[in-house]
Amino acid sequence: MKTKALVILLALACTSLLHAEKVTAGPKGGRLLDSTPLKAEFFVTAERHVEITLYDDHTNPILPGEQTIAVTAESSGGRTPLPMEKTAAGFLSKTPLPAGEPYRIVVQIRATPEAKQQNFRIDLDLHTCGECQRKEYACTCEGH
Ligand SMILES: [Zn+2]
Repeated sequence: MKTKALVILLALACTSLLHAEKVTAGPKGGRLLDSTPLKAEFFVTAERHVEITLYDDHTNPILPGEQTIAVTAESSGGRTPLPMEKTAAGFLSKTPLPAGEPYRIVVQIRATPEAKQQNFRIDLDLHTCGECQRKEYACTCEGH
């Protein structure tokens, strides 16, 4: 009985996150943001750090260059900027995400210092979807 209720809850949670905008799966299990010229995968590590990886149109990872990325968590405690640092493979937040999800996360990407800023909004829910087995923020289920 308890298990059944949990399954229903998970299914409801998944359905409530359905948007008109389709979620594209990232290679790491995160959510692929439709940024240009490079795509960016938003991924939350087991330690709750935000990891951003850049890809070309063929999903080949691209080493970070002059891009700048700003991540802000909009939790009930207020807006919390997460400072991002460049790593060998991408960008990683210096601090973990604040507790209390689900809440909104805003990712702002600039391809170059002069480029127009591109904004992406993600509803952070770290539960695992019962259907696609991905985290809810990266759930790719449609129409169920
Ligand atoms: Zn799903």
